[in-house]
Amino acid sequence: MELDSLYQEVILDHYKHPLNKKLSPTFTAQVHHVNPSCGDEITLNVNISDGIVTSVTWEGVGCSISQASTSIASDLMTGKNLDEALKIVESFSDLMSSKGTMAGDEDILEDGVALAGVSKFPARIKCALLGWMAFKDAAIQSSKN
Ligand code: ZN
Repeated sequence: MELDSLYQEVILDHYKHPLNKKLSPTFTAQVHHVNPSCGDEITLNVNISDGIVTSVTWEGVGCSISQASTSIASDLMTGKNLDEALKIVESFSDLMSSKGTMAGDEDILEDGVALAGVSKFPARIKCALLGWMAFKDAAIQSSKN
């Protein structure tokens, strides 16, 4: 897999120094998502209060793409209101289904654009989406509680 070297660095940095990788003791929803095709696995806790995502924490094992992507997503979602957060997830899934034709909007996705190149590799898209889909699942469960 070849990714732009600057982007490669962003991904490696998140992989080596993942953000929010320590489960919070309390949460409004907890989910466990796996990507069996690669062996990626994460548990993710969210806290949503008055429609604001106050924290996203996680623990997991897996490939650098899945772990870096979850780090990026957790950082990006923290502090957003729920509607905004879900729109960002949608924007990221659009990017992942673009087959390499989209660069991603850095204003919306921030470090998430570093994963744009992954969309050219169908086998890795689930790795990149794992943390985002886990967040979405947790956010929806949390808003039902
Ligand atoms: Zn993976």
